Amino acid sequence: MITVYNTMTRKKEEFHPLREGEVSIYCCGVTPYNDPHIGNARPFVTWDVIRRYLAHKGYRVRYIQNFTDVDDKIINAANREDVTWKEISDRYIAAYFTAMDALNVRRADVFPRVSETMDDIIRMIETLIERGYAYVTETGDVYYSVEAFAPYGCLSGRSLDDMEAGARVEVNATKHHPMDFALWKAAKPGEPSWDSPWGKGRPGWHIECSAMSVKYLGEAFDFHGGGSDLIFPHHENEIAQADPCIDADVKFARYWLHNGFITIDNEKMSKSKNNFFTVKDILKEYPGEVIRFFILQTHYRSPLDFSDERLQEAQTALARLKGANEVIDELLKREGTADTAADLAAQSEAFLRDFDAAMDDDFNTALAISQMFGLAKEINRYHQEVERGAVFDAAHFRTAAEAYRKMAGIIGIFEQDDAAPADDGLTNAVMDFVISLRQEARAEKNWVLADKIRDGLKEAGVLIEDTPTGVRWKRA
Ligand SMILES: [Zn+2]
Repeated sequence: MITVYNTMTRKKEEFHPLREGEVSIYCCGVTPYNDPHIGNARPFVTWDVIRRYLAHKGYRVRYIQNFTDVDDKIINAANREDVTWKEISDRYIAAYFTAMDALNVRRADVFPRVSETMDDIIRMIETLIERGYAYVTETGDVYYSVEAFAPYGCLSGRSLDDMEAGARVEVNATKHHPMDFALWKAAKPGEPSWDSPWGKGRPGWHIECSAMSVKYLGEAFDFHGGGSDLIFPHHENEIAQADPCIDADVKFARYWLHNGFITIDNEKMSKSKNNFFTVKDILKEYPGEVIRFFILQTHYRSPLDFSDERLQEAQTALARLKGANEVIDELLKREGTADTAADLAAQSEAFLRDFDAAMDDDFNTALAISQMFGLAKEINRYHQEVERGAVFDAAHFRTAAEAYRKMAGIIGIFEQDDAAPADDGLTNAVMDFVISLRQEARAEKNWVLADKIRDGLKEAGVLIEDTPTGVRWKRA
């Protein structure tokens, strides 16, 4: 039985999926306007392990993660460089993939972008207006009316009065209540804009995640994730927007899981404090698996202090686990029918049970990893026995080897070849770029160029497929 800490109820609860054998997850993605820092990476590494564990438990997992590709920060970056917003967002979406590939983070099933979900977002805003939860101002902005939604504050545990007292409320005479927030912002000169029933403009930040999660997962789904800084206002607002649009008697997200911050000298790492380290820069010093392992050595809800010393410790610890993996490689080549590893096989099953028990307890990767160390020690001990002359027992040893590798597969380590430098994700970055060029050609109905790109890739041994969820590529 999996139990998870649900921010909504502030306690650990038993996890029961909405649909038998399936788990649906939405995690808030990045605003692509810079290289991701290690604090940005934490939720994605966390959810990658959760996905792997749920798959190991036999669930079919559907995982959606968005890109906020229309945003003030992107527009500002584009103006600074005198390029289009699209150039900035495409560049840093590619940077996101490069960094996450290096951390063995598997791709989401869909990566919806705001710019490609505009119709669904507009439709949801229309519904909110029709149902009395939003209003249009004279300037063509649309605001959400927090007073219309009685449960407002249910996730963060705050009342409207508390929020108002705590917030530096901007003076804005057009809003009915100081905490009302923008669903649609009327276009300003020089900004990207889209047509809407309220004139040209672009959506506010919060509405995209309500629209995208419902679009790709349905009105109700299992997990909603993100950093704990998103609880208020972002996730609070997501609930306020989605709930009134749902007709069926279902809850929007059923379990809200929030990861803790990465800190430096006990201060939250953030772009605004300028005390951040990008994944790209850390990768110059450490392999991606070390960074991943460093993140997973701490339970996802605890704060995680970042330092060079802690990364070095993670590197040493991971090397010990890899040592046992090499022992496995070596021993699996041997044959032997003795009965000398029966104890090891039994122990490995106990370690795997305890590993699962740790993961069942709110995905406690720190404790789960300690079970790997326990089994690594026993594998090394058996190896020494064999080296000292004990007759090898292939069948029982294989049981231990499989248990160890099952754990490694969930933690997501031993996937990178030590001999080669950590994959810098160049192939993926280049492919993302080439595919984006083809998409642009298609958008401009330049079929000749689009086909030329596809055929050229085919000649180079790369097949691209247009699927309902986007373009994929694979080696032929
Ligand atoms: Zn979000």
